[in-house]
Amino acid sequence: MTTTPTVAAIAWRCDTCATSTTTGVIHINLQRVTAVEQELTAWEKRPREDVSRAVELAEVFAAPMIARWEVACRKCGHDCSGCYSIELALCPSVFALVKWTAHLYDKSWFRATNWVSFIHRVAQENGDPAEAAGVW
Ligand SMILES: [Zn+2]
Ligand SMILES: [Zn+2]
Repeated sequence: MTTTPTVAAIAWRCDTCATSTTTGVIHINLQRVTAVEQELTAWEKRPREDVSRAVELAEVFAAPMIARWEVACRKCGHDCSGCYSIELALCPSVFALVKWTAHLYDKSWFRATNWVSFIHRVAQENGDPAEAAGVW
């Protein structure tokens, strides 16, 4: 019996126009990333005398909004000069996405971005739900 390896290709789609693309980019605005990183540092160093439950909940909502990764196709004409960007041609499969995840994890600003939510969405949109049954 022979087994056919799973083709882990990713069907990328532009977050602006929803068109399928293989030539676009995964990108994030670096100015926004830096701002979020500074906000996170300041937020973590905030004084915490009163740690009642209500205060904690309010703090969660006051937490800095994370910088978001998005996919952009060429037709939408986005200029990535102020971005960290990954060509989709260099991220055609889940295996490449894993390598990019390891690469980005080493960046000091990784935590200021929503990369984990981003790749989770990619898995939700591309994967067979049965492969990871029981995982959120
Ligand atoms: Zn587009
Ligand atoms: Zn960009």
